[in-house]
Amino acid sequence: MKVDRRLHLLRLTFGQAYLWNDDGAFTLVDTGIATSGEEIADAISRLGGRADAVRQVVLTHYHEDHCGGAATVATWGDVTVMAHRLEAPVIRGDIPAPPPNFTDEERALHRSLGAHLLPPAPPCRVDRELEDGDVLDFGGGARVIATPGHTAGSIALHLPEHGVLFTGDTVAHVNGQVMPGVFNMDRDETLDSFRRLAELDARVACVGHGDPITGARDALRQAAGEIPA
Ligand SMILES: [Zn+2]
Repeated sequence: MKVDRRLHLLRLTFGQAYLWNDDGAFTLVDTGIATSGEEIADAISRLGGRADAVRQVVLTHYHEDHCGGAATVATWGDVTVMAHRLEAPVIRGDIPAPPPNFTDEERALHRSLGAHLLPPAPPCRVDRELEDGDVLDFGGGARVIATPGHTAGSIALHLPEHGVLFTGDTVAHVNGQVMPGVFNMDRDETLDSFRRLAELDARVACVGHGDPITGARDALRQAAGEIPA
């Protein structure tokens, strides 16, 4: 799905990824599940590109439906894999992923997804550890925004030049509703991070689950206003 002139949403068997195109040099934001690598390569070739032109992979957090395909993508060529410093040890497989603090509803939802939909993510190297405020070399400069809560090292990316915001799972867009994501480590912190993203001047918000949100600034502000304080 084309989101913007340089931006496509890749819908995968489970989860989704975003492909940013700087004149044939690609940046992937997230990578779906462990089996998603091939689907991502297919999608890139359908768009007329080459998988080995992926230069950067930015992982918004360590969940298996976001970094699952990264180990495959990392083998395609000259790829720099990036994630926040706090996520890197999990993505590398050095420490186990701390589980979310499920609400009762979320526990049932998570069980219904089942292990076949969410296979464990194979360990993947992280070449560059990110911090809040770092600026990445794509999309005219992509600013890293630490959004702790969903996981401790969750990040968003803001491309001011294009009015694009990648939210990771801090924001979801499900059944037409803009809301904080589920399966959080710390829900209150997630809500704080959500409110901070709502203060940015974003035209389109690319969420971890669901279609991109157009008119993002107003939609996020309205949703943030509906979150109980
Ligand atoms: Zn997640």
